[in-house]
Amino acid sequence: MIVRSLTLDFFRNYPHFGAEFSPGVNVIWGENAQGKTNLLEAVAYLSTASSHRARYDRELIQFGVDHAFLQGEVEARGRRFTLEARLSRGARRQLFSNGVRLKTAGELAGVLTTVLFCPEDLWLIREGAAVRRRFLDSCICQLRPRYAEALAEYRRLYEHKTRILRDWEEHPSLLDTLDEFSLRMAQTGALLIHYRAHFIRRLGEVTPAIHRDFSGGREKLALTYGTVSTVTDPLAPAKTILEQLLAHQESHRRAELEARQCLSGPHKDDMEVELDGLSARQFASQGQTRTAALSLKLAAREIFYQETGEWPVLLLDDVLSELDGKRQEYVLKRITSGQVFITCCEEMELARLGGARTFRIREGTLVGSS
Ligand code: ATP
Ligand code: MG
Repeated sequence: MIVRSLTLDFFRNYPHFGAEFSPGVNVIWGENAQGKTNLLEAVAYLSTASSHRARYDRELIQFGVDHAFLQGEVEARGRRFTLEARLSRGARRQLFSNGVRLKTAGELAGVLTTVLFCPEDLWLIREGAAVRRRFLDSCICQLRPRYAEALAEYRRLYEHKTRILRDWEEHPSLLDTLDEFSLRMAQTGALLIHYRAHFIRRLGEVTPAIHRDFSGGREKLALTYGTVSTVTDPLAPAKTILEQLLAHQESHRRAELEARQCLSGPHKDDMEVELDGLSARQFASQGQTRTAALSLKLAAREIFYQETGEWPVLLLDDVLSELDGKRQEYVLKRITSGQVFITCCEEMELARLGGARTFRIREGTLVGSS
């Protein structure tokens, strides 16, 4: 899939932006704080209706303005799509595909899939489990609409059950519905575990080879899925997992009431990343962490390709600056298929990306392209 062109009005620091892109590599370059990341963020927004660094859509609207507009001409599955997002300070955002208003953000992902790598992705390895769950969820949601539905349902149930557990002492009648919510959470949770286990298995097949080449054949990467302790085989059918989840819930019923929190379920899942048998979270160096995170992202991209026959658009923000020469070479070798957007500050880096289309950005304006 390819983003043919992009138009922005009052998005972040762009009063207006319009450009046509190459189906290959597009280099977005310029000094610090000019709007390079903002541009990648805009492309990503047209695929996920969310931003990796904004909590609220209103942050994306230019300071002092009430509306922002994003439009992308996208080619996917041999067809053309016009994707649009209208953001407004006072009202709900609106998403459109070929002029038809979309009901859910998931419908955008059905047209345009992106894989973004940004400096914050160091956290993917370093931080707590929530970051890795978010990575897994966003990958699986883009591949499996059924998972996206189950995840949304699980979140609703989780919030509801959390309210019951929080308020049951003041309102004992809430307990009447507790078991019903627990059962439904286990049913939906079993599906999540089943899908996550299969995706992590795929990721565990694809990532090590990428990471090995990336690290010059030196490092061995391995992934393990950590979920609810009673689940003996997360790859088992959801029915089997359900029974094991119910057993866990049963044994934690009292503890949940006392703690007034949901203690049992896949909302605490994690994916452990190991390098040469050691926990990457605890022991990996900055460069290793970066390489491992990028390997996971490139692996996700490859899995999308294997599943759908199309390369997702790859968005690489500031990826070259902190890699050593060999690792840089490797990244550049890896991005010869599919469409890629890559940001950089230095003309020297630009030279390494010879043959690509370049877009020079200054103060939220496109000042040149070649
Ligand atoms: P770096 O090389 O440092 O990563 P960059 O070119 O990627 O820089 P961006 O992160 O894209 O820079 O941000 C450029 C500028 O956009 C920042 O100076 C920021 O103040 C500005 N900016 C962010 N949000 C808004 C907004 N809602 N309205 C106007 N300007 C904004
Ligand atoms: Mg940036």
